[in-house]
Amino acid sequence: MRVGFIGIGQMGRHMSRHIHEAGYALTIHDLSKELAAPLLGLGARWADTPRQVAQSCNVVFSSLPTPSVVEDVIYGENGLKSGWKPGDIFVDMSTNSPSTIRRIAEDARVMDVSVLDAPVSGGTKAAEMGTLTIMVGGDVVALEKVRKVLETMGKNIFPVGDVGCGNIAKLVNNLIALTTNAITAEGFVLGVKAGINPQVLWDIIRLGTGNSWSLEQMPDTVFRANFEPGFKMSLGRKDIGLALAMGREIGVPLPIGTIVQQGLDAAIEAGFAEQSVQAVILPLEEKTGVEVRTFR
Ligand code: NAD
Repeated sequence: MRVGFIGIGQMGRHMSRHIHEAGYALTIHDLSKELAAPLLGLGARWADTPRQVAQSCNVVFSSLPTPSVVEDVIYGENGLKSGWKPGDIFVDMSTNSPSTIRRIAEDARVMDVSVLDAPVSGGTKAAEMGTLTIMVGGDVVALEKVRKVLETMGKNIFPVGDVGCGNIAKLVNNLIALTTNAITAEGFVLGVKAGINPQVLWDIIRLGTGNSWSLEQMPDTVFRANFEPGFKMSLGRKDIGLALAMGREIGVPLPIGTIVQQGLDAAIEAGFAEQSVQAVILPLEEKTGVEVRTFR
């Protein structure tokens, strides 16, 4: 099996490294060759275009920022589609729009190319450890063909249904995760402004019913004023936008998600698009004059 990987960013750099370390012949591509340097140093091969990746591989994975970038990588000049061969498999591990990946799968089917959507959860730490949760939509025969490669990146692999269903599960996850992120920020600003030590508050909530993955991130992020991504605010905004769009498409009102989106918009307007989603707390800290920090 010759494996390609497109998108060597915060997630893809770790995911592709696991594939390489498991012994697969790996070809990588990104807009920036600089990002690929560590993996090229370990012996992975470079391709100048997605087309070259498709031509030299029979299974291609991608971890790209937005639906429109995934479309560019497939349909653009020298895109994947121009290099696809019958029998190839494309696995998009980006958080994507279910309808976009379904359209791509339709186009690929005509060329006898299988498409799986396999978005991931667990953040950059799980990507680094190879312990991601992977939600897979699409043909189970194609899934079985790539399962061993997915297992290098994640420990829990869930077949969810037809192509697009992986992203449905992922968008629901992120709607919930981004909401707990926002409300955890609000709760801590409230508690600290009212006079409680943030570490004491954290110790209590961690053992209480307010615990969440978002709370678990605070010691390494907000408490240290560390807003390096991780998971970029701009990508969180993309995901909640995709969840709200899915709600509109199928007639499910999402009033709380709408408010969370407004919070992310405010943080982006305040200049935090390239910081981690935990920076959603910063506009509220500024407004209230408190800082939720345990380290100086
Ligand atoms: P990122 O922005 O760090 O990485 C994306 C990579 O894609 C970058 O290296 C960029 O150069 C490359 N790229 C952009 N346009 C390209 C193009 N036209 N051709 C080739 N390469 C291109 O993003 P990330 O945090 O690694 O996230 C990747 C995907 O995984 C996103 O869909 C995101 O929503 C999802 N995701 C991220 C996290 C996280 O914690 N960061 C967690 C789960 C899922």
